[in-house]
Amino acid sequence: KARLKLPPADTRYRTEDVTATKGNEFEDYFLKRELLMGIYEKGFEKPSPIQEESIPIALTGSDILARAKNGTGKTAAFCIPALEKIDQNNNIIQVVILVPTRELALQTSQVCKELGKHLKIQVMVTTGGTSLKDDIMRLYQPVHLLVGTPGRILDLAKKGVCVLKDCSMLIMDEFCNDSFAFILQADKLLSPEFQPSIEQLIRFMPTTRQILMFSATFPVTVKDFKDRYLRKPYVINLMD
Ligand code: ADP
Repeated sequence: KARLKLPPADTRYRTEDVTATKGNEFEDYFLKRELLMGIYEKGFEKPSPIQEESIPIALTGSDILARAKNGTGKTAAFCIPALEKIDQNNNIIQVVILVPTRELALQTSQVCKELGKHLKIQVMVTTGGTSLKDDIMRLYQPVHLLVGTPGRILDLAKKGVCVLKDCSMLIMDEFCNDSFAFILQADKLLSPEFQPSIEQLIRFMPTTRQILMFSATFPVTVKDFKDRYLRKPYVINLMD
């Protein structure tokens, strides 16, 4: 993937003393030491604007609907709070990251593994088009963070092998990632292909779950989804 590109100057209701970044440091978030080590070893010196906006809010437990361009650090913006919140001594799925494709699932799990290099967090990838039996076998081992596509995770949840009753964080990445979404709907999480599975999956989770949604664009369908499933979401928009 491309190196971090800062988004164009942020033009939201801006006063002269507001600059694109707030000048935060990763230390400001009181993260676990092992996580901070992973962040610095990955070469991140300071949080990017989307990370500054979302990490502290996500750590408070609030729902988030965030929009920022690709390449601005969205993946780390949700992986860092996810890794921070996971209790590695509790061998149960605590976070699910939903993505539209296997490729993205593999990339996202790689970011989690790198940032979480010094933590003992077990990350599993599960997507359609691979052996269901292998995934069932894998779930006999501890899994803290599951990254995958909605249909496969729902299959595993319905079979009772993927237990989501303690999954308190649901992240949806690229639920719509380009302005041609109306043509390319099959790729996006809030498309007729995925949305019913996501809605069913949410029912396997605790009612107190936190939902974080990240994308480069918002499809029209997001409003309806947001109104039904998000609770007083904090809306971040680094695009307008
Ligand atoms: P997005 O998910 O928005 O497409 P990524 O999270 O993949 O963006 O980040 C794009 C690139 O920037 C990646 O190579 C990532 O490692 C790097 N990156 C992310 N956050 C930072 C940061 N705070 N400092 C430096 N590089 C970063």
